[in-house]
Parts: sequence; structure tokens; C-alpha cells
Amino acid sequence: MSAGCCRLCSSLLVFWTLLILPGTPAQARDWWTVRHPTAGPPQAVGSPAAGCLAGGVALPLEGPGYQVVRASRERYFGHPRLIRYIRDLGRQIVGSTLDTVYVGDLSQPRGGPMSYGHASHQNGLDVDIWLTPGRPLMQPARLRETIDVPSVVTADGTAIVRTVWSNGHARLISLAARPPEVDRIFVHPAIKRELCRTAGGNRDWLHKVRPWRGHSAHFHVRLACAPGEKDCLPGRPLPPGDGCDEMDHYFNGPGRALLPLPKELPPGHRPPRVALPESCTGVVKAP
Ligand SMILES: [Zn+2]
Repeated sequence: MSAGCCRLCSSLLVFWTLLILPGTPAQARDWWTVRHPTAGPPQAVGSPAAGCLAGGVALPLEGPGYQVVRASRERYFGHPRLIRYIRDLGRQIVGSTLDTVYVGDLSQPRGGPMSYGHASHQNGLDVDIWLTPGRPLMQPARLRETIDVPSVVTADGTAIVRTVWSNGHARLISLAARPPEVDRIFVHPAIKRELCRTAGGNRDWLHKVRPWRGHSAHFHVRLACAPGEKDCLPGRPLPPGDGCDEMDHYFNGPGRALLPLPKELPPGHRPPRVALPESCTGVVKAP
């Protein structure tokens, strides 16, 4: 290669470097490297499995009736409606037999796909709430990084673990399902079957509780899109009824294959890449 060509190459390099270095928003960033929400009005964009969040806010790491676990993952951001929902739920249970709940992942500061773990939780409307055995204590933040809870379902997925499951869990899920902004809640089919068995006459919340693989040590709450947020993609309408007759599909039909608890994902496992709505590009690039 000639010296002239080298000079040309280096001036081209300087030119391109100036174009893409900080100061220009042209470079796409990975969602999990963005540390702050965007300013401006809240907007859940796309769906929980392919979306992002503008104008998200951080859930304070503890408050009456709740405490965030694994805060170092920085997934405690959500749509302001989700933050309000969690704080209201905490206020309802403080002083009851449960007293406090452990709150797991919400979303990253701007939502979007995660580097490991969930495929959903992308548009600021999802939160995991742990099913803690007994009455959990308020724990120091350091301990909340490593704390774990046992599954309330047996490993083969066919039964509830009676020594772990309690009426408090059933009450917590029913309280969590009642607010009108809740679209659906995912629990293991064995938990849904137990709720069907014990719900009694007042079961109008039960149709929102949907059987889903895993979800045996926590339940997953999903809020509906806020009215007027046109970029938010609503989920499929739920079938009518309390959903209890579907349980036969899981325990006596082909759904049996979905019962065993999934093995833990290997560290570093990446959820599949998904195509995001176009407006998410603006969200991740915003200052
Ligand atoms: Zn979840």
C-alpha cells in the first residue's frame, strides 16, 4: 500500500470518526446500557415482547408494603401507571398477614430487549411479584441482591407444595388482579387450579389470572395500555369465563407437557432478537 493511499485512509478515518463519535446520536445503543429514562410524557410503545418505554420512572427501592429485589439489575423502571399500581398494592397489604412483597423485575429505564432473562417486560407495563413463603421481613438492600424464594409448585408441575403455599398467596394474587388497569396475570397452571378451587363465590378477578409455563415462585402482572396511547399494542382479549375449565387441558390433556418447571437458563443466555416498532429507535437514541 502506498503512502498516499495511507494518507487518504487516515483522513477518511478521521472524517468517519467525527461522524460517529459522541455528540452525534447516530450510533444505536444496546437498551441495557442506557441508564436513564427519556424526559417527556409517558408512552408504552409496542408490546411487552417487542417494545420500549418513553417517559418511564423509577420505582423507589422500598416503600410501605413492598421492597425491590435484585436492584443492581436496574430493571425497576416502568410506566408511571405501573409504579402507582405497585405502590397502591403495597399500601393495601402493609400490616396484613403478608406485610410486604418482594418486587422483581419491571423494565429497563427505556424498556426494550434485555441482555439476559426475560423476553417480555419491554414496554414498562410488566412486573414480577415474588411468592414469598410466610411473612417476609423488610430486608437490607444488600441481602435483597441474593435472597431467593422456593417454588410453590412441585418440580413436575402437577401439584402445589402445601408447606410453602398459603392463603396469603391466594389473597395477594386476588388483590393484585382486581384493579381495572390490570390486563392479566401469569401464574403456573397448578397455581391457577388452586385459585379456582379456593376462590369461592367472589371470583370475578379470576379470569385475568392466566396459566403460563414457569411462574412458580413469582407471578407476573401486566397492565393494559393506557387509553389514548396509540403506539401501545394491546394483548389479545381474554376468553370469557373464569378460565377454570381450561385446567383440564393442562392436567388431563396435551397441556401436561407444559407443566414441568423449566430448567434455569444458563448464565449469559440471550432472549431471541425481535424487531421493535420504528419509534423505539428515537427512544433509545434520545439524550
Ligand atoms: Zn415476568
